[in-house]
Amino acid sequence: VSRFESITMAPPDPILGVSEAFRADTHEMKLNLGVGAYRTEELRPYVLSVVKKAENLMLERGEFKEYLPIEGLAAFNKATAELLLGADNPIIKQQRIATVQGLSGTGSLRLAAALIERYFPGAKVLISSPTWGNHKNIFNDARVPWSEYRYYDPKTVGLDFDGMISDIKAAPEGSFILLHGCAHNPTGIDPTPEQWEVIADVIQEKNHIPFFDVAYQGFASGSLDADASSVRLFAARGMELLVAQSYSKNLGLYAERIGAINVVCSSADAAARVKSQLKRIARPMYSNPPIHGARIVANVVGDPALFNEWKEEMELMAGRIKSVRQKLYDSICAKDKSEKDWSYILKQIGMFSFTGLNRAQSDNMTDKWHVYMTKDGRISLAGLSAAKCEYLADAIIDSFY
Ligand code: PMP
Repeated sequence: VSRFESITMAPPDPILGVSEAFRADTHEMKLNLGVGAYRTEELRPYVLSVVKKAENLMLERGEFKEYLPIEGLAAFNKATAELLLGADNPIIKQQRIATVQGLSGTGSLRLAAALIERYFPGAKVLISSPTWGNHKNIFNDARVPWSEYRYYDPKTVGLDFDGMISDIKAAPEGSFILLHGCAHNPTGIDPTPEQWEVIADVIQEKNHIPFFDVAYQGFASGSLDADASSVRLFAARGMELLVAQSYSKNLGLYAERIGAINVVCSSADAAARVKSQLKRIARPMYSNPPIHGARIVANVVGDPALFNEWKEEMELMAGRIKSVRQKLYDSICAKDKSEKDWSYILKQIGMFSFTGLNRAQSDNMTDKWHVYMTKDGRISLAGLSAAKCEYLADAIIDSFY
């Protein structure tokens, strides 16, 4: 008998489990719209050409594989803060930002969660309802209490802005408000610039601390600056804030685990202290971060030609997603004989579309149509090709009615 008898089987991850089920399906029309990873029109994974070029440069230079410092690669940390805030942002010159390289978005969020648990005991994190499924796991594991604020309105398949504002107002003073910087996951619904201003007003009034999750900078609109505008708007008000960044999507570095946690503070002195504590949290967890992805980012951002090429590739990826979004919408409208307004599909932004399908309808998508997706009705448009839009439209209409 095993000493591990009391350990029960864990349930599969609701997002990564979808890919496992997809692999087991042998149907020729099967479609994996579960996990958010970019695919080409041929539905193959894509390595950006700037990434290959940067890797070739790195090989030619014969760079070492020694340990990085706990806080990561200096050139990466500089580049990532500049991409986020804009290179000429005074916050950088004033050294008011503490940047620590993290294990992509997830690991960076986890470092911040540990910082909150240690230095803001009892403080709550407010997360949107719904949100990326892993947020809850991250705060649970870090023992940080969280609750939800209203975000999605199923009636309009749009933003419940009034609900959001009143829940942020009602939260205990000094709460952390988790916000998706752009391309909200899973809904694809973002506040307008005017709404962001109101959100910032309420957060300031209540002395809350904004905590941005930026997993899609440049990937949502195709522009790095436009996709960081929410964060920059808050930073320009002089607010202290946290930002977790990921290069999984915008540079396609999913498995390299490259990202960062940034804490914008009101003084250089506070930033130095925060950074020292983030390092102290990282050291016993994983000691120091991996170098490969950090070097790729630093090389791409640091070389004007590569940087421009990256922007072009990002526009291309964002453009392909926008064009399948349009094609899916057109196909649904052409096939649906009812009066239903599907325009919410076009209003959403980024990799995902929230179809408005409920759990039973999502089950029908998978069981009958071999379309794999999360049970909340989210589909990843990055896994859709123009050639399969008609098929998907048939599946959605069949499941909906
Ligand atoms: N936050 C959000 C909202 C995401 O969608 C993702 C990717 N699915 C992440 C964070 C983190 O992903 P990664 O750890 O690969 O950077």
